[in-house]
Order: sequence, then C-alpha cells, then structure tokens
Amino acid sequence: MIECTLCGRLVLGLTGYDWTVVPWMLAPATGVMPGPCHVSCLQERGAAGSWAAAVEAYHRERWPRWLAGVDAGVGWRLHSSRAARRFHLWRSDGAMASFAYAVLTVAPHRTGTDLAELGTAHAATLLAAMGTDRPGSVVPLPRMIERLRLTDRYPFVEGTVTLRRGVVVADHPLALTRACLRAAHQLAAEGADTYRFPSDG
Ligand SMILES: [Zn+2]
Repeated sequence: MIECTLCGRLVLGLTGYDWTVVPWMLAPATGVMPGPCHVSCLQERGAAGSWAAAVEAYHRERWPRWLAGVDAGVGWRLHSSRAARRFHLWRSDGAMASFAYAVLTVAPHRTGTDLAELGTAHAATLLAAMGTDRPGSVVPLPRMIERLRLTDRYPFVEGTVTLRRGVVVADHPLALTRACLRAAHQLAAEGADTYRFPSDG
C-alpha cells in the first residue's frame, strides 16, 4: 500500500495530484516527511509553496528550456525535455506534473498513469474499488476514488481506470491552463536552431 505521509490515506499516484517528496526537496519547518503524498495535503498544511520553491532550482537546472506564466496568482514554468519528448510542469502551488509531448496530439488532453502492478496489495485494493478484475474493463475513475473514500483528495478528477497488460492504469485529463497549453505547443514546435539557454539572454 502506498500511503500519504501527511494523512495516512491511500495515494493513487495521479499526475498533477500526487507527488513523492524526496529528502532534498524538504523545506525546513514544514513538517513534511519524505515519501508519497497528496498535493492537496501539502496545500492544506501550507507547505506546498515552500516545497515548490525547494524544487524550483532543480527544475531550472535539469530542464533549462522553458516558458513561464502566472495564472490566477499561481506561477508556473513549463520545462521541456526535447530528448525525452516530455514536459515537466513546475507550479508555485505544488501541483506539478510530468507528461509526454504526445499528450498534445489529442484534445481533450489526457495522460495515462500506471497506478499499480497486478499481484501487489495496492493493485488488489484498487481492483476491489473498481469492482472488476477483468482485463480491459473500463471503470469511471471518480467512482473508484469515491469507493476508496478519497474524493476530498481528488475532487476534480475525471477519466477512467482499466486493468491493462497486468497494470492498473488511469487515463485522465490534464488540468492545463490555456496559457500553459499555448506554451506547450510552442515548446513542442520549436526547432533546435531556435534553442537558447536562458543565460544567453
Ligand atoms: Zn494525504
């Protein structure tokens, strides 16, 4: 079982909703322990901002190609890894996400998250909440979340959950603001010749 270090309840591992705090990400005096947690728990503790600040430098260094903005008071920076064809979204409210360029090709933009491998206690819990262990059966993700009594941790989640090739997989929309989405298309379209390190000005 994967449990939240802050509330002790199940962590699904959904992109944009959950995070694993590793020791170097810890901000002093926030009371946050290393391990998996709900971003909503970080936010409720008032620790999301300081925690986001603690990982900001890492994002800048690791993926030096980005576009940034502010939406409804939340600062964001969309980092692009051209080699991996992935985006790494940093947000000042801690709701970070990593997703593939390929997410952009189909609207509405959704991502797949592997939640658990068959044979683990975690998968058994999820399958019980899904109400089926038949491969390929598609179950509404909010229904599974409700049965796990986790709706308050994942209040806006839509999408589906399926057992696919021995893995419980969630397919759900990515909550991207319009400006962030525009940035994603721009970053994905940029050619290598237009690439500049931020330090180049
Ligand atoms: Zn929690």
